[in-house]
Amino acid sequence: MIPSLMPTYNRADLAFERGDGVWLYTSDQRRFLDFGAGIATSSLGHNYPHLVAAIAEQAGKVMHVSNLYRVPQAERLAARLVAASFADSVFFCNSGAEANEGMVKMMRRAQAATGHPERTGIICFDGAFHGRTLAMLSATGNAKYLSGFGEPAPGFDHVPFGNMNALRNAIGPTTAGIMIEPIQGESGVNSADVRFMRDLRAACDEFGLLLGLDEVQCGMGRTGRLFAHEWAGISPDVVSTAKGIGGGFPLGAILATEAVAKHLTPGSHGTTFGGNPLACAAGNAVLDVMLAPGFLAQVEARGRTLHAALERLVTARPDLFEGVRGHESTGGLMLGLKCRFPVSQLQAAALQEELLVVVAADDVLRVIPPLIVNDAECLEAVERLARAADRIVLAAPLLHAVAAQ
Ligand SMILES: *Cc1c(COP(=O)(O)O)cnc(C)c1O
Repeated sequence: MIPSLMPTYNRADLAFERGDGVWLYTSDQRRFLDFGAGIATSSLGHNYPHLVAAIAEQAGKVMHVSNLYRVPQAERLAARLVAASFADSVFFCNSGAEANEGMVKMMRRAQAATGHPERTGIICFDGAFHGRTLAMLSATGNAKYLSGFGEPAPGFDHVPFGNMNALRNAIGPTTAGIMIEPIQGESGVNSADVRFMRDLRAACDEFGLLLGLDEVQCGMGRTGRLFAHEWAGISPDVVSTAKGIGGGFPLGAILATEAVAKHLTPGSHGTTFGGNPLACAAGNAVLDVMLAPGFLAQVEARGRTLHAALERLVTARPDLFEGVRGHESTGGLMLGLKCRFPVSQLQAAALQEELLVVVAADDVLRVIPPLIVNDAECLEAVERLARAADRIVLAAPLLHAVAAQ
């Protein structure tokens, strides 16, 4: 008989009762080091007092009023995001997929409103992940995710990630814009280099296209900058973000320039829950921490510690590991460990070492801790990974021998 909770996930047989910082506790008091952060979402770790207090306080006042009225918490959060980024205006929603849907709608609407209603096509990249709604499945383009769900939504093309020639060849008279993750998360922590990001901006300017960045995972401080595209020194037209922005509370956002945002006139787009007082109280509390002097630099420094420790693991175990992946800046706290064996084995072994990590495609282990992690915790996580790797060697001496040749 089917479980009453729909079995859409392969869940580990573990349930956490509470968390504290980068640690999660089961009811039998087993303590796990959380280097997955609920898939790069628990940006301030668990039970962060300032975030907890902000949510509790707002919940005790008013949680939801709808967008029929002004929401001061949303106005404040938007103003702060605008002040801290390229954007002139922000739309709040509830998830990454919803932010990406809105981003594509904005790109199309801006083209239509400026005399190009025929420009509806969005150029995406192989290996993309943009979410699970019907249109974002098409933008993602992964055959496995599309299977059984009917005709893919039209208007999304794919070119190889990082290939400028292919990109320029894909641009046509019906192209509205380009949609890219500056660092692809789900497909294995593939980072677009700074040069490619700048070339994308130049191509958009040359052909009158809009540059839309999916920073749902790599944004909100993950790389040691508020947004990953800042490393390239470029200014996009639209950016979607979600995951880390609410510190675990569901919140998404679309940031846009005035030239794009002004076409989303009243009635053209909306959401019931998006930008409610509770979610925005969480968002403001997260920003209090992220924008505090030195915080992002600290993320960058912790990323360097973690990166170096992972590199040492790769050097010690060239038979098992191929390299460390992340942004060319050193990656911040969005790193990948490329394995020479099925990465699910390493994830399972890490669980035995009471370390939580997340698999990605291409046999890459994603190492994406809360941004409040300290150096000692980074080193502890890599020690646990090394012990997890030992388990794999012991369990599969043949694989080890073959890989070592
Ligand atoms: C997680 C993710 C999404 C989808 O976000 P949801 O909140 O699950 O809808 C979209 N894009 C990227 C890059 C992501 O990592």
